[in-house]
Amino acid sequence: MTAPLREAPLAMDAAQFKALGHALVDQIADLLAAVPAGPVTRDCTPSMIRDALDLSSPLPEQGMDPGELLARLPGPLFAHSLFNAHPRFFGYITAPPAPIGVLGDFLASALNPNVGSWILGPAATEIEAQTVRWIAQLIGFPAGDGLLVTGGNMANIVCLVAARAAAAPWDVRTGGIAAGGGRELVAYASRETHTWIQKAADICGLGTASIRWIDTTPDLRMDVGALERAIDADVAAGRLPFLVVGTAGSVSTGAVDPLGDIAAVCRARRIWFHVDGAYGAFAAAVPDASADLRALAEADSIAVDPHKWLYAPLEAGCAIVRETGALRRAFAYHPPYYRFEEQLLNFVEYGPQNSRGFRALKVWLALRQAGASGYRRMIAGDIALSGRLADAVERHAELELLTQSLSITTFRYVPRDMRQDVAAHDEYLNRLNASLLEALQHGGEIFVSNAVIAGRYALRACIVNFHTRAEDVDAVPPIVAAHGARIDAHMRATISRGDVTST
Ligand SMILES: *Cc1c(COP(=O)(O)O)cnc(C)c1O
Repeated sequence: MTAPLREAPLAMDAAQFKALGHALVDQIADLLAAVPAGPVTRDCTPSMIRDALDLSSPLPEQGMDPGELLARLPGPLFAHSLFNAHPRFFGYITAPPAPIGVLGDFLASALNPNVGSWILGPAATEIEAQTVRWIAQLIGFPAGDGLLVTGGNMANIVCLVAARAAAAPWDVRTGGIAAGGGRELVAYASRETHTWIQKAADICGLGTASIRWIDTTPDLRMDVGALERAIDADVAAGRLPFLVVGTAGSVSTGAVDPLGDIAAVCRARRIWFHVDGAYGAFAAAVPDASADLRALAEADSIAVDPHKWLYAPLEAGCAIVRETGALRRAFAYHPPYYRFEEQLLNFVEYGPQNSRGFRALKVWLALRQAGASGYRRMIAGDIALSGRLADAVERHAELELLTQSLSITTFRYVPRDMRQDVAAHDEYLNRLNASLLEALQHGGEIFVSNAVIAGRYALRACIVNFHTRAEDVDAVPPIVAAHGARIDAHMRATISRGDVTST
């Protein structure tokens, strides 16, 4: 006879686990199936959510039945959430979760390996290593080392730390920035670069003043001549250029910097070239990817985001460096309490995290299910739908197309009588479109976000969503125009009453 399980409030036997698990999967499947027919998001206030989910109560002293708990939660949770899995979700850069990734997270947490060291997660470590190799292969990047992290910010920060350790001519890990004896490390990035770079410069002790913001050409891509002049000026002043960041798909407009030209500048001057490909790097996998984008292969490091264009459930980012050893040289320590075999792959030595979850599994499963060809089809499909939206916007008499690149389209509502001279009405149009965005985000019909392009407030639709169909895209212009006309009429009425504050 086997001894009975220890009595523990969290213990669950196999029969109960199966019963609760099956019931939960049934509930989730039904709720997910209902998403497309419902609103993208519901207009609710913090207090409505707290009431619905009982989120104001103190920590319960007594526990409760887990079956009851799980039966009650999914409904209200779905009812008070925004669905990035909705076919009409076009906001920010947030993908729907691949169903196999959802199941993969379940399996990963059931196994619960600590993927900090090989010995604590043997199969998980090997799966993560293959996931990194597959990601690199998909985008055509010659990978040395890499690892999965929480997202694009962390992946970029990891690469910046690797660049700093490789480039500083003194032992920056021991002496810090101060040990440079006044030699200042400087980094270069275009004005369209995502805010990760400020956080990275800040938390690494470089300070945001070490960032040179390089101007862009009118297409919002880095001006490489301006980059060269900035580097020359810093060198002449005795500073140490250590990093140039190129963006493969900017967060605002999807613009791809001239990565090949930037790589040439970095090679000639021996500066680490990092590509922020959090959003756009995976588009390098599609056959008609631009030469600028494919030149990401020339970088020293790259950050990509599987929770964007690989449709992995949050969170999954990936940092990859060209040179084997570059991550260990930036992150490894060998404390007496870890006796890991050095010839084995111990991810604790590759990044800032110590204990690490099995976030590779959901990515690996999705890559296996879809294959490279499946991903090329889905990504190309998203890009084609974005082009379709741009065409529809351009044909619409009350919409102005501003940009289209990769799968991001930006545009704004312009009343017909202002079309002839939009510049004269920019201030009004900015206020109008800001109100329009607010109305759209609360309305639940479609979800878009915004961009500011050369001072013009734009609506921004990003399609990283394998649920989106042509009819979803075709619905956007009429919905935007209807809300735009209503808000325009309201604003004009308010202005003519002299009551400008209420808009
Ligand atoms: C999304 C994004 C980031 C940040 O990635 P997170 O996953 O949100 O941390 C950085 N750079 C670019 C270009 C992005 O699109």
